[in-house]
Amino acid sequence: MASLQPVRGTHDLLPDEARRARHVIETGRGIAERYGYEEAATPIFEFSEVFARTLGETSDIVTKEMYTFTDKGGEQITLRPEGTAGIARALISGGLSQHLPLKFFYAGPMFRYERPQKGRLRQFHQIGAELLGVGEPSGDVEVIALGATILEELGVLQHTALELNTLGNTESRAAYRALLVEYFSDHLDSLSAESNDRLERNPLRILDSKNEGDREIVAGAPEFDDSLDAASQEFFAAVCAGLDTLNIAWQRNSRLVRGLDYYCHTAFEFTTEALGAQGAVLAGGRYDGLVEQMGGPSTPGVGWASGIERLSMLIGEAPAKQRPISMIPMGDAAEAVGLRLTEDLRRAGYTVDMGYRGKMKQRMKRANNINASVAVILGDDELAQCSATLRDLDSGEQELVALDDLRDRLEQFR
Ligand code: ATP
Ligand code: MG
Repeated sequence: MASLQPVRGTHDLLPDEARRARHVIETGRGIAERYGYEEAATPIFEFSEVFARTLGETSDIVTKEMYTFTDKGGEQITLRPEGTAGIARALISGGLSQHLPLKFFYAGPMFRYERPQKGRLRQFHQIGAELLGVGEPSGDVEVIALGATILEELGVLQHTALELNTLGNTESRAAYRALLVEYFSDHLDSLSAESNDRLERNPLRILDSKNEGDREIVAGAPEFDDSLDAASQEFFAAVCAGLDTLNIAWQRNSRLVRGLDYYCHTAFEFTTEALGAQGAVLAGGRYDGLVEQMGGPSTPGVGWASGIERLSMLIGEAPAKQRPISMIPMGDAAEAVGLRLTEDLRRAGYTVDMGYRGKMKQRMKRANNINASVAVILGDDELAQCSATLRDLDSGEQELVALDDLRDRLEQFR
């Protein structure tokens, strides 16, 4: 029945995958804390305006990808497609501007109505970081370093390349925009319909087109560098120098633009060839105009977000989970003792599985299935001696252990 399928572009995080996702989140959170970024969580839905205003009416997200609905009170609501707008909204509505600079880490689901493919979902998950109130290039360097360290700790940094670009300040971008419009106007016939559309509204995005024909035309487009004023050049040079100081390898990609309208100066992306067409792993940039555009005080910001599903695919396996102890009581009297022991051990921090039913053979089979390290077997013989049989499930060795000593003896199987 179609209605019992997951909605297209969504998927279930069953335990193996959930563990991988958790590993990504916990690694990200732990490292972010070392850099002074504290976790924050904004709602997964906001008034549509929060996104419409900040992402820019012309961005792909707003024009095509938003999950928007009218709630029962008649409010226009949107499931968040990304995390930055919500954080900026929280800064304003929570009156946090007096506490700048602020450093946030977040993790959670995002929603975009896109064509689902491997590594591209409609409900996906991100970790992200935002640094608010720091306009200096050292802020850009810090957030990029944070991203690189997380990728390194996850063991995926070596499968990525850091691409870096600058979009300059407002004046430089306006100058470049004019040059682009002039250039692309001469190629209207050869540009894709989508790029034709963008010419008026957001010509920078044409640089980002994935259309083959567009890319040929883009190759001949004017370079941003020629439009950068001195202040913008200086800012970018400082970011590059900071990365070099930290030995963070990067390469210039002068065609890298961010999909969202509010970015300025630094744009960056850790990309990989290991995921086919979905090459962007961690992406971000500077968004000094965002908070003001939303109606708050002028507040510089820089940050990034990274797709948890893409990171999970790159790491392959999560670190091994703790192997459980298997409690195997045989007989009614043993059941009661086993129940109490199981609970005591769990409270003492052990991971213990107790089967609900079955003969010895079935219970041993379950112990193997869950990869238990040791079985604690309680039968009438053992009970008569106030003991249990410990069976090392790797070596097959057995020994009789007094119940009083059980906890200590199990220490080695933790
Ligand atoms: P793409 O070019 O792949 O569409 P994007 O520029 O739209 O990416 P951002 O808005 O910068 O992506 O989001 C940051 C990160 O979130 C991406 O680098 C990617 O890892 C992840 N991401 C974005 N959209 C999706 C999606 N639909 N499914 C899974 N992950 C996604
Ligand atoms: Mg996208």
